[in-house]
Formats: sequence, structure tokens, C-alpha cells
Amino acid sequence: MHELSLMAALRDQALAEARRHGAEQITAIRLRIGSLAGVEPDALQLAYAVVMEGSIAAGAELVIELVPARCWCRPCEACFVADQGVCECPRCGTLSRELRQGRELQLVSLEIS
Ligand SMILES: [Zn+2]
Repeated sequence: MHELSLMAALRDQALAEARRHGAEQITAIRLRIGSLAGVEPDALQLAYAVVMEGSIAAGAELVIELVPARCWCRPCEACFVADQGVCECPRCGTLSRELRQGRELQLVSLEIS
């Protein structure tokens, strides 16, 4: 389950950020996850509970912001939502090679106390 290592990396990032602000407790963690990031939200929740245990982030709420995949169509000069990772423009049918978002897995913000 690679969610565990991903979560461990995010935890380290969150803890470093909290330390910088002199926080004693992290109460919530917000993540942005692209629909093509290759992670299962359920598995992520599980991994989250495991890796946060024993840290100041134990028991913090996990808020997941899901980001749909979007590609850029050059002819239309517009972005479109690429469901299932199919980057074919719904307007003109051009196959796009420019994925603009959808693979992110990032820490957005923390709530600390
Ligand atoms: Zn197009």
C-alpha cells in the first residue's frame, strides 16, 4: 500500500510546518488530491490514522479536496475536464497531451493550536 509512504511524507511536511509556527497540536490537515494521483481516498484515510499516531497530529481531522483532471486544448485555447484520464477535447476532439491538473497530492493547509 503506497498510501502509507505518501502519508508519511505528508506527515513530515505537516509536522515541520507546525513546528515552524510553534504549534502544540495539529487539529486538521487539508490535502488536495488529483483524480489521477493514483491513490484511493479510503486507503489514504486508513494510512493517515496509522502514520499520525503518536505525533502532535494524532486525531487531527483529514480534509480531502478532490481535484478533477483537466487538460489543455490548444486549438480551443481552453481547459476541459478529463474524466478517467481521457484527454480528448469534448469540443473539437483533439487529443491533448497537456495535463494541467489531476496528479497533485499536496498539503494545502493546517489547523493548529
Ligand atoms: Zn478543443
